[in-house]
Amino acid sequence: MERTMIRTQHLERFYVTGAVKTYALRDISIEIKEGEFVAIMGKSGSGKSTLLHQLGLLDKPTKGSITIDGHDVINISEKERTWFRLHELGYVFQSYNLIPELTAIENVYITAMARNLNREEYEKMAEEILAAVGLEDRMYHYPSELSGGQQQRVSIARALVNKPKILFADEPTANLDSASSEDVINLFKKFNEEIRQTIVMVTHEKDEGEKADRIIWVKDGLVDRDKMQGL
Ligand code: ADP
Ligand code: MG
Repeated sequence: MERTMIRTQHLERFYVTGAVKTYALRDISIEIKEGEFVAIMGKSGSGKSTLLHQLGLLDKPTKGSITIDGHDVINISEKERTWFRLHELGYVFQSYNLIPELTAIENVYITAMARNLNREEYEKMAEEILAAVGLEDRMYHYPSELSGGQQQRVSIARALVNKPKILFADEPTANLDSASSEDVINLFKKFNEEIRQTIVMVTHEKDEGEKADRIIWVKDGLVDRDKMQGL
């Protein structure tokens, strides 16, 4: 239970735009355990997305180290980082990023296809995960035939089809009405409880953060507060 899934030490990330240097992250050292559901919260511009991008290997820090399940993921090749993203990590963003020309099931199984499985295997995996997000009767619909909430559930299925070690989500409910937002958060909660899916989710909705096990508050690129919920 106490296995460390993510560890960062002294993470720093600045951006240089013309003559201006902006520190998005100044010095972040955190540890996230396997099976934890962590919310990252803080004001707009505080560094939440930048932090998530570092943890999800979508960007590299200017300083500091990150390990995922004990592996150094900074001092490795781009090819190895890509392997990690494909096999070990899943992502859900504010925009669903579905391919409009593909049906729900095709949008989900292209992620599994990239792992060289045979058609029978990846179709079965896609069907199972779509059923788990409550879309068994929408598998052959195109994105334009689905509501925003349903499209986001397809993107969650796509993120989980390869059974990633960590699911990352950046404001996954920002474009959804309150009922669909609740569905999405309840799905995260379900996967966290039933399969002990490790989840790191950025949100600015307090009630969503409170559904997580723990809230890490970010302010000016630093951890402001780090609080376990309940108890
Ligand atoms: P949040 O997700 O909490 O709203 P971000 O992590 O997106 O915050 O941004 C943190 C800070 O870094 C902000 O001041 C933002 O303007 C800056 N920033 C983010 N991305 C870039 C970029 N690509 N180039 C320059 N500055 C950036
Ligand atoms: Mg953001």
